[in-house]
Amino acid sequence: MQAATTLDHRQLYRLPWTLPDNAISWLEPTSACNLACDGCYRENIPSSHKSLDVVRTELETFKRLRNSDGISIAGGDPLMHPKIVDIVKIVAELGMKPIINTNGGLLTEELLRDLKRAGVYGFTFHIDSKQGRPKWKDSNEVELNDLRLHYAEMLARVGGISCAFNSTVYDDTLKYIPELVEWAGKHIDIVHVMVFILYRAAVPQLPFDWYAGGKKVDMDPLVYSEDRERKVDLKAPDAVAEIRKRYPDFMPAAYLNGTEKADSFKWLLTGKIGTKKRTYGYVGAKFLEAMQTAHHLFKGRYLAYAKPSLTSLGRSMMLFGFIDPPMRKVAKEYLKSIFFRPSEAFRSIHYQSIMIIQPVDFLPNGAQNMCDGCPDITLWNGELVWSCRMEELKQFGCWVRTVPCSGR
Ligand code: SF4
Repeated sequence: MQAATTLDHRQLYRLPWTLPDNAISWLEPTSACNLACDGCYRENIPSSHKSLDVVRTELETFKRLRNSDGISIAGGDPLMHPKIVDIVKIVAELGMKPIINTNGGLLTEELLRDLKRAGVYGFTFHIDSKQGRPKWKDSNEVELNDLRLHYAEMLARVGGISCAFNSTVYDDTLKYIPELVEWAGKHIDIVHVMVFILYRAAVPQLPFDWYAGGKKVDMDPLVYSEDRERKVDLKAPDAVAEIRKRYPDFMPAAYLNGTEKADSFKWLLTGKIGTKKRTYGYVGAKFLEAMQTAHHLFKGRYLAYAKPSLTSLGRSMMLFGFIDPPMRKVAKEYLKSIFFRPSEAFRSIHYQSIMIIQPVDFLPNGAQNMCDGCPDITLWNGELVWSCRMEELKQFGCWVRTVPCSGR
């Protein structure tokens, strides 16, 4: 694997998201799912649909404890919930953006139109090659682009809905990231966000004993426990290095650090400006700071997802070149291109986000480097908790600690 890219976190914009004031919160109306993905972090419980009253109570608890622009409606798979349209309606009525996180398997155009009427703001489709998805079992990440396009075009037909894709990235699928970035670029008009989540699991080669409180525990009962040795320490700069094999000027502009390591990139955001034919460049830290700050100033919340009507304003965004040097470069590239090919002036120019997420890192001293300002915070017994590790609370009643074990 190519050496990781060096990124200087002080040159990037530290996203202003915190526990009480964040862009997103994570609602799980069910943990039932119709797939069994390799890297899943939630136990699949078929009969776990929450009532609308419980869902409303949880949403009101989020509102009481935390400012959120969007609610990620996840699971399990939220489309398994028979009242998913009502759930979207409640989220919208409470003034937050309903974002459905789904594998898409149950999505029909008819259901999509019902969800649009209910106020759905966006979708994040979880699609990758380790989901055991019927009809796509042997497809690799690139072959799955046909499935991704199917959903992106369905959303575009209905219109006005933000479209994102996320993929869990394993050591043997890391190599496909540049192709997915390229594919997304060719569809920059209907694919607004690409998210790459680096694989994590409790694997046997980790040199730790696991403790719940003062008691040593066995992680086997947890869905993210693994009995085979597997690579679980891919870092965001590794993914950037892979992308730069094809796009040497690929440049992230914002991040969330870790709770233990200030210079770790737990969420690493890159903003691309371009047409379906070409990329003019990548936005800088000042542009993203202006977007987050202005949204908070005028809407009282940090920006989560943006409507296609906003992401299609690529040309206007270039005006931020007066405060953002990378955006100035984008504008120069654009002006150069229309000088040589005037027809470019008539193409629509879009903004696209590429996010890399680096879940828990286990440090040699046993400390756990989580995402500082975790956007995927959910609720457990009325308390705000990390959704990626909620199985520990369900199983042991507390977070599991990692204690370096001598002799390993
Ligand atoms: S701490 Fe876990 S749930 Fe929160 S953003 Fe990071 S990976 Fe996601």
